[in-house]
Amino acid sequence: MTEKKINLAESHRLRRLRGSKFLRELVQENDIKVSDFIYPLFACEGQNKREPIAAMPGIERLSVDLLEKEIHELASKGIKSVLVFGVTDRKDAQASQAYAQDGISQRAIHVIKESCPEMVVMSDVCLCPFTDTGHCGLIENKRVANDSSLELIAKTALSQAQAGADVVAPSAMMDGQVAAIRELLSSSGYQDTAIMAYSAKFASAFYGPFREAANSAPQFGDRKSYQMNPANLREAMREIEADIEQGADIVMVKPGMPYLDVIAHARSEFDLPIAAYNVSGEFSMIKAAAERGWIDEQAVVKELMLSFKRAGTDLIITYFAKDLANWLNN
Ligand SMILES: [Zn+2]
Repeated sequence: MTEKKINLAESHRLRRLRGSKFLRELVQENDIKVSDFIYPLFACEGQNKREPIAAMPGIERLSVDLLEKEIHELASKGIKSVLVFGVTDRKDAQASQAYAQDGISQRAIHVIKESCPEMVVMSDVCLCPFTDTGHCGLIENKRVANDSSLELIAKTALSQAQAGADVVAPSAMMDGQVAAIRELLSSSGYQDTAIMAYSAKFASAFYGPFREAANSAPQFGDRKSYQMNPANLREAMREIEADIEQGADIVMVKPGMPYLDVIAHARSEFDLPIAAYNVSGEFSMIKAAAERGWIDEQAVVKELMLSFKRAGTDLIITYFAKDLANWLNN
């Protein structure tokens, strides 16, 4: 009995492959590289404006005239993609600035694409930064209306494609939004514009700092009638499946860190590229702890990114993209 136990141990000495750095690297299953990361950019109105976001150290809103320099800096670090958010005080019931040809997002996309054509420009498609209510759709009978919002969401996506976006990223969690966008893009000659769907977007407390950044907090109620219940995994698979059927090219899980199980399940069920959004609250927690000297920021962030890759993520949207590029390039 004892002899058998010892033999078993001999055949299962997993430490054998951990003995040296090179050996560990040879058998490493996952890796992170700068091209995994998408950097979110907040574009604001005005000239020569840099507005720091209090809860997100190092992240700023930039006026459109500063984007050229910013995008060259990102490209020089090896970052290959940005996700654009427009921030404005010009809000109304119809979210008209969401789809205005000279809207803040459209101007930002245009400048980025002009100054760095090879940069993959993704743009957030939602109404909440532009509605006077701060909700992601139009309000009818005191409810966020689904179907009447679709037309404006599709118009927003088309206007961004026309401004030069390579990938439009609908984040409103309205049913049918991917189909509405796909249809309008295709019938308008933009059949090559890709859609990255915020498919499994949960109603999360981790979005807190972002709402300051994007000036998009809802003026009443919350977003639980359209964003997903954090308790639901099977429903997340239904959301993802629906978006794939409607023509999504990339599907997303948001937030990332507390939803790695959702990513892993999606990876086992679907073959499309999967994006994870490492959201503002995840970023702020790590920054705050690092500022106090409680954790080693670089080690923690690299480990977190590796966890996204291990779970099955292909693309990671993260405010750490610049920091990661600096760390990985040196
Ligand atoms: Zn929204």
